[in-house]
Amino acid sequence: MKPLVLVVEDESALVTLLTYNLEAEGFRVASARDGEDALLMAKEQKPDLVLLDWMLPLMSGIEVCRQLRRSPDSRATPILMLTARGEEGDKLRGLDSGADDYVTKPFSPAELIARVRALLRRARPETTAETLAYDDLSLDLAAHRARRNGREVHLAPTEFRLLRHFLAHPGRVFSREQLLDSVWGRDVYVEPRTVDVHIRRLRKAVNGRGDADLIRTVRSAGYALDREK
Ligand code: CA
Repeated sequence: MKPLVLVVEDESALVTLLTYNLEAEGFRVASARDGEDALLMAKEQKPDLVLLDWMLPLMSGIEVCRQLRRSPDSRATPILMLTARGEEGDKLRGLDSGADDYVTKPFSPAELIARVRALLRRARPETTAETLAYDDLSLDLAAHRARRNGREVHLAPTEFRLLRHFLAHPGRVFSREQLLDSVWGRDVYVEPRTVDVHIRRLRKAVNGRGDADLIRTVRSAGYALDREK
């Protein structure tokens, strides 16, 4: 599951920018426009991280931060504060009130994402463990587990490697020979037909009843991870 970031900011242009950049980097995003909304969403959605603007209407970012820290649901949730440039006192008060780190506006999206990742790594190592995903299928490389639409997918080692290869290059068509090279290794002699056998097993494992077939057979070319339209 992709980590969920709760963006608390009243400027819609900034919310749009943050959402775009975070989603592009593989995060899910929820947003709140004021403090009360933020506290409610933190309770309901249990985000993995809160990105909190200092300047908010009704309730200041600092107050939101204090309240998040007081609530058992969000006591340990990493909080990254956004502060205005040059407000040295704000940064310190922010950290005092329980924020884990801060980023000064204006910031570069790359810097912000790097801080988000660093905080998540520190807080919950498993949320940034490498996960590959396509459509409703995801593969947790560290835990060696695959899931499709919430259901656990059981894979033998070869099917696991095959799926990992496809997930690293979604949409790309691989010939049987290319798959043999990448998945089985160059010095292993296996007949190209063996690939078909494993593709069949992978399909069977991945496609449950009613699921779309995620593996496309490209005649005389090979296979691709691709949702058939
Ligand atoms: Ca603001």
